[in-house]
Amino acid sequence: MVDSPAGRGCSTFIVTVTTTIPSEQRDKLIQAARVAMQNAYAPYSHFKVGAALLTTKNEIFSGCNVENASYGLTNCAERTAIFSAIANAGPDLAITAIAVVNDQNVPCSPCGACRQVIYEFGPDAVVIFQTANEWKQSHINELLPEGFRLQ
Ligand SMILES: [Zn+2]
Repeated sequence: MVDSPAGRGCSTFIVTVTTTIPSEQRDKLIQAARVAMQNAYAPYSHFKVGAALLTTKNEIFSGCNVENASYGLTNCAERTAIFSAIANAGPDLAITAIAVVNDQNVPCSPCGACRQVIYEFGPDAVVIFQTANEWKQSHINELLPEGFRLQ
Protein backbone atom coordinates (compact mmCIF):
# COMPACT_ATOMS: atom_id res chain seq x y z
CA MET A 1 0.00 0.00 0.00
CA VAL A 2 1.34 3.40 -0.92
CA ASP A 3 0.53 6.39 1.18
CA SER A 4 -0.47 9.49 -0.68
CA PRO A 5 0.55 12.79 0.93
CA ALA A 6 -2.26 15.14 1.67
CA GLY A 7 -3.04 17.41 -1.24
CA ARG A 8 -1.67 15.04 -3.85
CA GLY A 9 -3.16 12.29 -5.91
CA CYS A 10 -6.25 12.18 -8.04
CA SER A 11 -9.11 14.56 -7.76
CA THR A 12 -12.55 14.06 -9.19
CA PHE A 13 -14.43 17.01 -10.55
CA ILE A 14 -18.10 16.68 -11.19
CA VAL A 15 -19.19 18.89 -14.04
CA THR A 16 -22.84 19.76 -14.10
CA VAL A 17 -23.99 20.46 -17.63
CA THR A 18 -26.91 22.82 -17.70
CA THR A 19 -27.46 22.98 -21.44
CA THR A 20 -31.08 23.35 -22.36
CA ILE A 21 -32.92 24.63 -25.38
CA PRO A 22 -35.64 27.30 -25.30
CA SER A 23 -39.11 26.01 -24.41
CA GLU A 24 -40.47 27.15 -27.78
CA GLN A 25 -38.01 24.88 -29.62
CA ARG A 26 -38.60 22.10 -27.12
CA ASP A 27 -42.35 22.23 -27.71
CA LYS A 28 -41.85 22.25 -31.48
CA LEU A 29 -39.70 19.11 -31.27
CA ILE A 30 -42.15 17.35 -28.97
CA GLN A 31 -44.97 18.16 -31.38
CA ALA A 32 -42.99 16.87 -34.39
CA ALA A 33 -42.17 13.71 -32.44
CA ARG A 34 -45.87 13.20 -31.66
CA VAL A 35 -46.76 13.49 -35.35
CA ALA A 36 -44.11 10.91 -36.29
CA MET A 37 -45.28 8.62 -33.48
CA GLN A 38 -48.60 8.20 -35.28
CA ASN A 39 -46.75 6.28 -38.03
CA ALA A 40 -45.09 3.82 -35.66
CA TYR A 41 -45.16 0.16 -36.59
CA ALA A 42 -45.62 -1.47 -33.19
CA PRO A 43 -47.90 -4.52 -33.58
CA TYR A 44 -45.97 -6.51 -30.96
CA SER A 45 -45.39 -4.10 -28.08
CA HIS A 46 -48.29 -1.75 -28.85
CA PHE A 47 -45.92 0.92 -27.57
CA LYS A 48 -45.67 3.68 -30.14
CA VAL A 49 -42.68 5.99 -29.92
CA GLY A 50 -41.80 9.11 -31.86
CA ALA A 51 -38.65 11.21 -31.98
CA ALA A 52 -37.69 14.49 -33.58
CA LEU A 53 -34.29 16.08 -33.79
CA LEU A 54 -33.11 19.62 -34.39
CA THR A 55 -29.93 20.16 -36.39
CA THR A 56 -27.42 22.99 -36.16
CA LYS A 57 -28.88 24.13 -39.51
CA ASN A 58 -32.23 24.53 -37.75
CA GLU A 59 -33.82 21.64 -39.60
CA ILE A 60 -36.13 19.13 -37.93
CA PHE A 61 -36.23 15.43 -38.80
CA SER A 62 -38.45 12.86 -37.18
CA GLY A 63 -38.87 9.13 -36.86
CA CYS A 64 -40.89 6.39 -35.18
CA ASN A 65 -40.22 2.92 -33.89
CA VAL A 66 -40.41 0.13 -36.45
CA GLU A 67 -40.78 -3.31 -34.92
CA ASN A 68 -40.09 -6.70 -36.44
CA ALA A 69 -41.39 -10.22 -35.83
CA SER A 70 -37.88 -11.17 -34.78
CA TYR A 71 -38.01 -8.43 -32.11
CA GLY A 72 -34.22 -7.91 -32.13
CA LEU A 73 -34.39 -6.15 -35.48
CA THR A 74 -36.71 -3.49 -34.13
CA ASN A 75 -35.49 0.04 -34.74
CA CYS A 76 -36.16 2.73 -32.18
CA ALA A 77 -37.72 6.09 -33.04
CA GLU A 78 -34.56 8.03 -32.18
CA ARG A 79 -32.39 6.03 -34.57
CA THR A 80 -35.07 6.16 -37.26
CA ALA A 81 -35.07 9.96 -36.96
CA ILE A 82 -31.27 10.12 -37.18
CA PHE A 83 -31.06 7.74 -40.14
CA SER A 84 -33.87 9.62 -41.88
CA ALA A 85 -32.02 12.91 -41.37
CA ILE A 86 -28.92 11.48 -43.00
CA ALA A 87 -30.93 9.91 -45.82
CA ASN A 88 -32.57 13.27 -46.51
CA ALA A 89 -29.79 15.79 -45.85
CA GLY A 90 -26.52 13.89 -46.01
CA PRO A 91 -23.91 12.69 -43.55
CA ASP A 92 -22.93 16.08 -42.14
CA LEU A 93 -25.54 15.76 -39.45
CA ALA A 94 -25.01 17.78 -36.28
CA ILE A 95 -27.73 17.32 -33.69
CA THR A 96 -28.55 20.18 -31.34
CA ALA A 97 -31.43 18.47 -29.58
CA ILE A 98 -33.64 15.41 -29.87
CA ALA A 99 -37.02 14.78 -28.26
CA VAL A 100 -38.66 11.42 -27.67
CA VAL A 101 -42.33 10.80 -26.91
CA ASN A 102 -44.57 7.75 -26.49
CA ASP A 103 -48.27 7.12 -26.82
CA GLN A 104 -48.72 5.99 -23.24
CA ASN A 105 -47.25 9.10 -21.63
CA VAL A 106 -44.92 7.06 -19.46
CA PRO A 107 -41.31 7.88 -18.54
CA CYS A 108 -39.14 6.90 -21.48
CA SER A 109 -35.55 7.94 -22.02
CA PRO A 110 -33.53 6.70 -25.02
CA CYS A 111 -32.11 3.17 -24.80
CA GLY A 112 -28.37 2.62 -24.65
CA ALA A 113 -28.01 1.94 -28.37
CA CYS A 114 -29.79 5.18 -29.25
CA ARG A 115 -27.69 7.15 -26.76
CA GLN A 116 -24.56 6.01 -28.57
CA VAL A 117 -26.01 6.89 -31.99
CA ILE A 118 -27.16 10.31 -30.72
CA TYR A 119 -23.65 10.88 -29.37
CA GLU A 120 -22.12 10.06 -32.78
CA PHE A 121 -23.91 13.02 -34.38
CA GLY A 122 -24.51 15.18 -31.34
CA PRO A 123 -21.75 15.07 -28.72
CA ASP A 124 -23.33 18.23 -27.25
CA ALA A 125 -26.93 17.28 -27.92
CA VAL A 126 -29.72 18.00 -25.50
CA VAL A 127 -32.03 15.02 -25.06
CA ILE A 128 -35.65 15.77 -24.17
CA PHE A 129 -37.74 13.02 -22.65
CA GLN A 130 -40.54 12.40 -20.25
CA THR A 131 -39.89 11.46 -16.64
CA ALA A 132 -42.45 10.59 -13.98
CA ASN A 133 -43.02 14.26 -13.18
CA GLU A 134 -41.79 16.43 -16.02
CA TRP A 135 -40.19 16.87 -19.41
CA LYS A 136 -36.50 16.59 -18.73
CA GLN A 137 -33.64 18.01 -20.76
CA SER A 138 -30.37 16.17 -20.29
CA HIS A 139 -27.03 16.65 -21.99
CA ILE A 140 -26.06 13.48 -23.87
CA ASN A 141 -22.97 13.19 -21.65
CA GLU A 142 -25.23 12.78 -18.65
CA LEU A 143 -27.04 9.90 -20.34
CA LEU A 144 -23.91 8.38 -21.90
CA PRO A 145 -20.78 9.20 -19.89
CA GLU A 146 -17.61 8.63 -21.90
CA GLY A 147 -19.42 7.66 -25.09
CA PHE A 148 -17.45 5.68 -27.64
CA ARG A 149 -15.69 7.62 -30.37
CA LEU A 150 -13.21 6.48 -33.06
CA GLN A 151 -10.90 9.50 -33.28
ZN1 LIG B 1 -33.33 3.03 -28.67
